[in-house]
Amino acid sequence: MKKYISLFLVLTAVASLCGCSSFRPAPQRYSKTLTEYFDTVTTVIAYDTSEAEFNRKAEELEQWLGEYDRLYDIYQPYDGINNLYTVNEQAGKAPVKVDRKVLDLLLYGKEAYTLSRGTVNICLGSVLRLWHEAREASLENPESAYLPEQAALTQASAHTDIQQLILDEQASTVYLADSEMSLDVGAVAKGFAARALSERIQENLWQDFVLSLGGNVCTAGNKNGDGTTLWNVQIENPNPQAGSALEVLQLTDKAVVTSGDYQRYFTVDGMQYCHIIAPDTLYPADAFSGVTVVCEDSALGDVLSTALFILSLDQGKELVEALDGVEALWVDKAYNIIYSSHFEDYLK
Ligand code: ADP
Ligand code: MG
Repeated sequence: MKKYISLFLVLTAVASLCGCSSFRPAPQRYSKTLTEYFDTVTTVIAYDTSEAEFNRKAEELEQWLGEYDRLYDIYQPYDGINNLYTVNEQAGKAPVKVDRKVLDLLLYGKEAYTLSRGTVNICLGSVLRLWHEAREASLENPESAYLPEQAALTQASAHTDIQQLILDEQASTVYLADSEMSLDVGAVAKGFAARALSERIQENLWQDFVLSLGGNVCTAGNKNGDGTTLWNVQIENPNPQAGSALEVLQLTDKAVVTSGDYQRYFTVDGMQYCHIIAPDTLYPADAFSGVTVVCEDSALGDVLSTALFILSLDQGKELVEALDGVEALWVDKAYNIIYSSHFEDYLK
């Protein structure tokens, strides 16, 4: 007994000595919001020892985010790099040498097509452009709001064959073999970039953080930075009349990704048209107000949230239940909530 007591005293003495020599202030919670990337809002919340330290790291994160944004931009070129705008511009002309990050995204885009049963197609650019133009013009001039012509949609849909996206990993080039085809990575790029950024954050910046890249939320470590508390992630209510969050999830080391019809849409003759287009009808998917996916990988979450928004509930449920570690929540047009079999485990 005596032996144990003295051992205990020695251990306490050592522990308090160590405590003195390596004293550090408890990490504090800091956050930063950025609005200049991916045409959306990015927020990072993390625990750090001082505001200066947090800001230094947040600036590093912003550099990385900016690089992904420029590489994946389909709307404009940037000096000194070949991005997706360049690839689209060179359709039918020549292969374009690209950064590995571009090649990896497009390889993932091909996987996304298979995984989503053809509903998420990064080669749908020619069709999506018609909807994009109609949306922008209609939002600007609501009195002359219009829908894309059916004939134009049908004509454009003849140029969406993902087999015409030629990726050469050895040469690190991308070629669109159909001159009228174009890439639109809106359904996958944010989740893919969020996954890559999250990995880089964990390796270089913080252990306890939440990164949200336009509704693609990645969580790691713990809220409070104390190793005990899960993060709370709110799911926005698609019903504009409802004041509060739809649900609050408690989790960590998971991605939470939502696709919805309530942020990007336009109105023609009193009907709302959202930005997620079903490839079979060439019209906006209209079965759900929102779909949220929880899984480890935000790239997969992004693909699936868009796919489930397009697929029927039965097809979507079947897809989710066949995948390990994936849960989903659907909100239908009447704002009824439907859960996959273990989604409720995450509810607070
Ligand atoms: P958000 O970008 O608002 O988070 P999503 O991840 O669901 O939502 O992606 C929607 C975007 O994906 C659209 O703005 C458009 O650029 C693109 N998109 C729409 N429909 C499809 C589709 N069927 N396949 C591939 N991309 C699509
Ligand atoms: Mg998506």
